[in-house]
Amino acid sequence: MILSIITLFPKMFDSVFDHSIISRAIKSKKITINIYQLADFAQSTNSSRKILDSSPYGGGPGMVLRPEPLYKAIEKIKQDNFPNQSTVILLSPQGKTYNYIRANNLSKEKSVILVCGHYEGVDQRFIDLCVDEELSIGDYVLTGGEIPAMVVIDSVSRLLVGVLGNDNSSKNDSFSQSNSFLKGPVYSRPRKFLGLEVPEILLNGNHKEIDNWRTEESQKKTRNNRPDLLNER
Ligand code: SAM
Repeated sequence: MILSIITLFPKMFDSVFDHSIISRAIKSKKITINIYQLADFAQSTNSSRKILDSSPYGGGPGMVLRPEPLYKAIEKIKQDNFPNQSTVILLSPQGKTYNYIRANNLSKEKSVILVCGHYEGVDQRFIDLCVDEELSIGDYVLTGGEIPAMVVIDSVSRLLVGVLGNDNSSKNDSFSQSNSFLKGPVYSRPRKFLGLEVPEILLNGNHKEIDNWRTEESQKKTRNNRPDLLNER
């Protein structure tokens, strides 16, 4: 899967993609991540400043990313990858809320282009011409689309076959297709920690009883923390 990112701040991605599971997925070629600097697609003024943003028509605070550099970047990335099979996503607080189902659908795509906005956002004409979908990672506003793009890439990559050490790990996660509840509590060594013991049932080796206990605990956690998920069922 090819994941392309358009950003004003490519270096922001270094620390996230250079570590742990995502770094291994890149090395083993399960995913290819290409980062495009938006400034490379902008014209320079006489003072050699790149024209990337302008003040909004109609007035108001902040700067808006202009459509031309973004449009050129998309053209170039589509040429480089799968011209008719790239899904263009704009990270935006105005988008549909991102969730497990969307991550799962995206994980089946060949090429996804993630556009990171900044400042006041991006010119609507770019959205009208090039964007297939606007996605929000939650009901709050961040300074830029870089962290949301990392969230999408991380959550999509771990669903690809061979990315996690054990492919069954993601199948039993919270929100996964086989588990519409939150995952329940998990325990490791030591058996007793600061007076708290691992539940006896996890030690008795009876897998049927353990499965039943896990189901009950996961339902309990969902009722306490996310009762809205139960209403969706
Ligand atoms: N003025 C915009 C509004 O009120 O909707 C907010 C712009 S925000 C400061 C700048 C950029 O950060 C956005 O263009 C988007 O790319 C990104 N961003 C901020 N919050 C986001 C969120 N919750 N989900 C996805 N992207 C977000």
